[in-house]
Amino acid sequence: REVLDWEISLIEKLGVEIKTGIKVGKDISLNELRKQFDAVFIGVGSGRGKKMGIPGEDLKSVYTAISFLMKANVDYVDDMLAPDVDIELPRNKKVAVIGGGFTAADCMYTSIRLGNETHLVYRRTRDTSSARQEEWDHLAEEGAILHWLTQPIEVIGNEKGEVVGLKCIKMELVPDEKGGRPKPVEVPGSEHIIECDAVIMAVGQGDNPLAYKDVEGLNIDKWNNLSTVDKKFRTNVEGIFAGGDVVNGGDTVVVAIRHGRDAAESIHEYLMTKEWKYGEE
Ligand SMILES: Cc1cc2nc3c(=O)[nH]c(=O)nc-3n(C[C@H](O)[C@H](O)[C@H](O)COP(=O)(O)OP(=O)(O)OC[C@H]3O[C@@H](n4cnc5c(N)ncnc54)[C@H](O)[C@@H]3O)c2cc1C
Repeated sequence: REVLDWEISLIEKLGVEIKTGIKVGKDISLNELRKQFDAVFIGVGSGRGKKMGIPGEDLKSVYTAISFLMKANVDYVDDMLAPDVDIELPRNKKVAVIGGGFTAADCMYTSIRLGNETHLVYRRTRDTSSARQEEWDHLAEEGAILHWLTQPIEVIGNEKGEVVGLKCIKMELVPDEKGGRPKPVEVPGSEHIIECDAVIMAVGQGDNPLAYKDVEGLNIDKWNNLSTVDKKFRTNVEGIFAGGDVVNGGDTVVVAIRHGRDAAESIHEYLMTKEWKYGEE
């Protein structure tokens, strides 16, 4: 966090004015910003927390990964980034984390450090998960309980509406006919319940088009992202650039930073020439 503060202070020293706490698309529209600025860069990410769509997931102690991680890190959940803002962190309880990627791993570490008995529930195997293999070793060392080839099908609640378990079914992997990743399929009759008091769903993030959905004529792809930018991070609407997760749907920090740097050069070029050559090199 100190490193981050230092980096932000360097940006401020360059003369950048930073306005926080403003939701574009709510507090101010992108069209309004376009009137005030010659160029606008959209870097709003693609990180809205989402759930799986299984029965019981609206119970009180079922969280999206984004809500859980925001609450644990900054004690605040932004309604722009997650649907479940009013959450209470589980401590010294039993928690089930659903997913097999880096976000699931982050939730596991955070949950363990809050004192919870923490279970990972993932429908594929360890080898076919998308997180680095070391993550699972580190988590096992910290006491995580890992359930591979296990698919949640329902969150079970009691009469008070509290979570008491996660109903799951065992899976097996079958080869993909098209040569892709092996596919998980259900093993009939293998339903079972993992006891828990809270469930965290780390099953990927959804779109967050609040900032740009009202811009007339802007090409938005079927995932509500801006993947149609050209190689210079220009959108099809003059003066609007975009980069990072909002363009690639979710990748890494270094890729987002690279997009930002390359887009800055491209913005400079546009401000110097005032020519909009969308699609050209
Ligand atoms: C749990 C988790 C773990 C991850 N771990 C790693 C990792 O270990 N290594 C790695 O390289 N990558 C990791 N990633 C991916 C990485 O975080 C992203 O690829 C990267 O942050 C994308 O940068 P970005 O600037 O495009 O978007 P973001 O970092 O998502 O930033 C977007 C910003 O825009 C703001 N915003 C959104 N909408 C609006 C609006 N309408 N108005 C105003 N502001 C808005 C958001 O509040 C946010 O501050 C992880 C992601 C998650 C969710």
